[in-house]
Amino acid sequence: MMGYVLPPPAPVSLPVYGSTDRFPVRRIFCVGRNYADHGIEMGGDPTKEPPFFFTKPADAVVESGSTIPYPPATKDFHYEGELVVALGRGGSNINEADAVTHVWGYAAGNDLTRRDLQDEAKATRRPWDMAKGFDLSAVVGLIHQGQSLPDAMLTLTVDGVVRQETKLSLMIWDVPGIIAYLSRLVTLAPGDLIFTGTPAGVGALQRGQTCIVTVEGLTPATVTIV
Ligand code: MN
Repeated sequence: MMGYVLPPPAPVSLPVYGSTDRFPVRRIFCVGRNYADHGIEMGGDPTKEPPFFFTKPADAVVESGSTIPYPPATKDFHYEGELVVALGRGGSNINEADAVTHVWGYAAGNDLTRRDLQDEAKATRRPWDMAKGFDLSAVVGLIHQGQSLPDAMLTLTVDGVVRQETKLSLMIWDVPGIIAYLSRLVTLAPGDLIFTGTPAGVGALQRGQTCIVTVEGLTPATVTIV
């Protein structure tokens, strides 16, 4: 019988609202510059440059309520409050019209970023992986099952002070649009998560601070930095 030469890694999973069963995480896709105000704050022109994708490894996920260390190799560690889509069905070339049927649920999330490494990567035209896909960089709240999400407010606070606030309807690509677009680039699979982008107001986190992302109707995603 075939074995493994090393113990295989435990599956990555996240807790689900109202259930003891967990959501198995396959991959993490992220949308860049999906709110016009954030595109402008990052020096872009949202009328000329459409949003785009990058990824994080699945085991970068952090459960809400966690305390994590300030990451290595940065002096400018940023929060980005985002809606996270959890896919229940995969596929390629998905039509926007039925893209929502691929959604299993939604969560609040925080796309933690080493902004100085991202700035350096942009300046040297190198990849973003070490700026975005580092350990413990994807905070995700409880996943709430359901395919429809009414237009809701997303709010991010640091130690109780509001730093980001937007209506989800201000996304340049909405959830069906993101799923349809991404499914033309890769074959999506059940368990994939999509971070849908952050609005204006990104900024630095310091040791000792607690950052909470709230999306109306969902459980907040909370992380504390030590
Ligand atoms: Mn982001």
